[in-house]
Amino acid sequence: MAVRKTELVDVEEARRRCFAWAAPREAVRVPLVEAVGCYTARGPELPEDVPPFDRSLKDGYAVRAADTAGASDDAPVSLIVIEEVAAGGWPGRSVEPGTAVRTMTGAPVAPGADAVVPLENVRLPAGSSGRRGERIELTAPVQAGEEIQRRGDDLAQGSSPIGAGERIGPREAAVLATAGAWEIEVIRRLRVALLSTGDELLSGPGPLKPGQIRNSNGPMLAAMIRMEGWEVRDLGRCSDQVETVVRAVQGALESYDVVVTTGAVSVGDYDVVPHAMERLGLKMLFRKAAIRPGKPVTVGVRGDRIWFALPGNPASAFVTAHLFLLPTLRKMAGAKAWDPLRTTAVLSGRPSGGPIPLTRYWRAQAWLEEGRAVVDAGREQLSAAISSFLGANALVEVPPGQDPGVGDAVTVWWLDLPSAPIGY
Ligand code: AMP
Ligand code: MG
Repeated sequence: MAVRKTELVDVEEARRRCFAWAAPREAVRVPLVEAVGCYTARGPELPEDVPPFDRSLKDGYAVRAADTAGASDDAPVSLIVIEEVAAGGWPGRSVEPGTAVRTMTGAPVAPGADAVVPLENVRLPAGSSGRRGERIELTAPVQAGEEIQRRGDDLAQGSSPIGAGERIGPREAAVLATAGAWEIEVIRRLRVALLSTGDELLSGPGPLKPGQIRNSNGPMLAAMIRMEGWEVRDLGRCSDQVETVVRAVQGALESYDVVVTTGAVSVGDYDVVPHAMERLGLKMLFRKAAIRPGKPVTVGVRGDRIWFALPGNPASAFVTAHLFLLPTLRKMAGAKAWDPLRTTAVLSGRPSGGPIPLTRYWRAQAWLEEGRAVVDAGREQLSAAISSFLGANALVEVPPGQDPGVGDAVTVWWLDLPSAPIGY
């Protein structure tokens, strides 16, 4: 079992290799409700104008603006109400000079009218209730177009306001539904298999035997994948034997786009993953990156399948999942922006330790304070410390050889924020 000597690859170079390989999966046409969480394959063309007809923005009267010229308290303009239209109704008559149509919010504006006067701006002559056949008085002129939303003003039929590579969420669902785009083309959901290596692991409930620990990487990664909107199958744990790993991953590579394993990837006695990767004929994108935590991270591909071999230490798995796994998968899922947002921030707390020749990633909490980004990395950074995940919404990136202090400007990865604005 000769394991090849490997050189550490710079983190950005390793990421670039993943992104260069990652291409979007197939596009599928799906009902809008099923597209939620997916990325658009192309900008959907809106099938309908929004609104689909000229409609009133207020409860009021549809009038001809020209009729109201010169109206005042002393010289009101008197109009006769010829019809009443509620939302969902349709006017049967046109507004001729001297007439008005009582028109509720959301109702179509009768032909001939070019403005709506809100109820509260209308005076009723003695004995009139302002209904059909009765008179109303206007005491001020109105401008053409007032309180009317014209057909297609909001969204025009044939336009594509949502571009390719945007994620379908509540905003997009509202826009597409209102324009009648009930089916859209998105990149299909990724299928991801998870496998946690380690003879010491217990997956799921039940008492721990002596020497056992519980599998936390599986549930952590399953949560990450699910929250991105993809399908995930947690295959649980497998023992530290090349044969077992080969068998489990071989099957998974056939049925899933992505296989993620954790553990058994460094140079310990039972680190069998590199051998399994060789046995399965994977082409390696890189073996080991110059980072801490997560140095053993290794990524290989076979055909259009990719295998992320993340280290088993929970913090290493957490960091490498954010640096490599999630961005690459977002690109495979069709996202036009796949990386989390990176900004500078003022360091308000830091862990112990000194500079090392690797890029360090400190788990941290970032927030905005009086218009500037602040980040606190003053927490345990031991790879094995899972409590350090609590509240960690950011990573502080510390370049090789550097050692920023409190008050210094540092680079922060905001783990829950996308890198580019939504394109509309
Ligand atoms: P490995 O990368 O397999 O050498 O594992 C490194 C450390 O992480 C060991 O202490 C393992 O027990 C622990 N570890 C490995 N896999 C998991 C897992 N799925 N959940 C929690 N801890 C793990
Ligand atoms: Mg292990």
